[in-house]
Amino acid sequence: MSAEAWIIDGYVDEPACLGVPPYISPYIRTVAGVLVDHQYTVRYCTIDQIRQDYGLLKKANTADIAVMIAGVTVPGKYLGGTPAGYTDIRQIGTSLQKPESFIGGPILFGSSKGGGSQAIRQEEFGFDNLLHGSPAHALHSFLSDHQPSPWIRSYADEDRWAVAGSSVVTQHPLYPLVLCEIETSRGCPHAISGGCSFCTEPFYGEPVYRSIPGVSNEIAALYAHGVRHFRLGRQPDLLTYQAGAGEFPTPRPDILRELFEQIRSAAPQIQTLHIDNINPGTIARHPEESMEALSVIVTYHTTGDVAAFGMETADPAVIEACNLKGDPDMMLDAIRIVNEVGAQRKDGIPHLLPGLNFIAGLAGETADTYRLNQEFLSQVLKEGLLIRRVNIRQLMPFEGTRSWNENSLPVDEKRFRQFKEDVRKHFDLPMLRAVFPRGTVLRHVIIEESGDTSFGRQLGSYPILVGIPLRLTPRAVIDVVVVDHGMRSVTALPWPVQINSLPPKVLTWIPGISRKNQVKILAKRPFSDTIGVESAAGVSFPPDYFTFTSPEVQAP
Ligand code: SF4
Repeated sequence: MSAEAWIIDGYVDEPACLGVPPYISPYIRTVAGVLVDHQYTVRYCTIDQIRQDYGLLKKANTADIAVMIAGVTVPGKYLGGTPAGYTDIRQIGTSLQKPESFIGGPILFGSSKGGGSQAIRQEEFGFDNLLHGSPAHALHSFLSDHQPSPWIRSYADEDRWAVAGSSVVTQHPLYPLVLCEIETSRGCPHAISGGCSFCTEPFYGEPVYRSIPGVSNEIAALYAHGVRHFRLGRQPDLLTYQAGAGEFPTPRPDILRELFEQIRSAAPQIQTLHIDNINPGTIARHPEESMEALSVIVTYHTTGDVAAFGMETADPAVIEACNLKGDPDMMLDAIRIVNEVGAQRKDGIPHLLPGLNFIAGLAGETADTYRLNQEFLSQVLKEGLLIRRVNIRQLMPFEGTRSWNENSLPVDEKRFRQFKEDVRKHFDLPMLRAVFPRGTVLRHVIIEESGDTSFGRQLGSYPILVGIPLRLTPRAVIDVVVVDHGMRSVTALPWPVQINSLPPKVLTWIPGISRKNQVKILAKRPFSDTIGVESAAGVSFPPDYFTFTSPEVQAP
């Protein structure tokens, strides 16, 4: 019998406005590959599974090796799974008595209760060994010669381990409803001038890029194990994939095209292909090449995609003090360009929109910073530009970054809250109405929480939270139609709308129907066609809006 190794997944790397899609990070898969290479049978579980069933930890305690990956790189609220906190990790570390135990991931950079306080670096997790740097490389060194590894920047081994460890995805509790994040590079070109003051990416130095076969072979292996949802994440700027030297290199659309073509041929029936970070400073400095590169993405990706812009602030004083990527005019230019290429719709959904990240508490911040941020967002609205989401968080300084010593913490809580509320009410709400107008059909929403109102999301980058005023089966996958908007979510009904079976109080969600006509609808049910509904409702509907048969819910 081969030796057994457990991987405990307590890691989330996701800006956290509305939650996290269920996903497995590259750390987990490459660590699994190392364990497979060293002839271990790999068992995998998430921190949430352990919280629900302590017996899992007992089982892990009988293994030969246990590896935990933990930490968050972006503080915030996580609805799709709560990342492991320091107390969780210590409890697990001290409980693992029999196996040789390892811990790695961003937790080694530090942890805190959330934004607004420093991330304190801990070493006392109760684990036998710390996996510094690349967890896969560090684990491989321990298993080979019991020595901590030097920092290895090349992807040669990780590419191999990513393929060898790909089958671990089948053990994810939500498999096959799982998104695999695919790393394309590490390190940031902006590190040449020191990088942004708050960011840990410059710790990795100047960029090292994965090869196209490295990426496509990993995707082919995951695809062969049934994965259909991918995001090219874990890189500071996908536009500069394999671009030349310099602090803001010029995008190479030809290389990006080759990358996306290879991905598409490795995963012909792919259902989600999204991206993550794009540096708006790249777009503003190289508008033509960026437009071409963005067009390549729009050609090969799937709709509903988000280019996350770390703009952080619209205050020139903060930009200067923190060496950020560009001034507000450049950010606005970048937003315009992404809109020009990506705001076109397919099946009612915009292809690719910017997402904006703001950070409060950076050096140089004053009360005026918030006014400038608000003015910036007003300008975006005024120009009719679309933004998929705005993420506002407080700085969580990591040791080793300039922000550790230079910051404006604690932030003026009152002003910070006002800013957030103002954005929610006066920006997010009109923007959601513009991005997902009533009548928009959202496909393949996965129900995550059931109740009088059930909640679900699609798999992808920053999927919108969908509230459905019906008790639905968790993990059901349904299409829905948007009927109303909250500040950070939409209300929707299963689509096509089951007009003959909807409970009376849910009928009230169908837009445009007066209370009097709702009574008429109830009296005249069952309907057999849309014309009948329209005559009772006094409103017209798209021909495919209703179904007149029994509800159908696709099994996961
Ligand atoms: S925030 Fe982005 S551009 Fe700035 S240092 Fe980090 S990765 Fe580089």
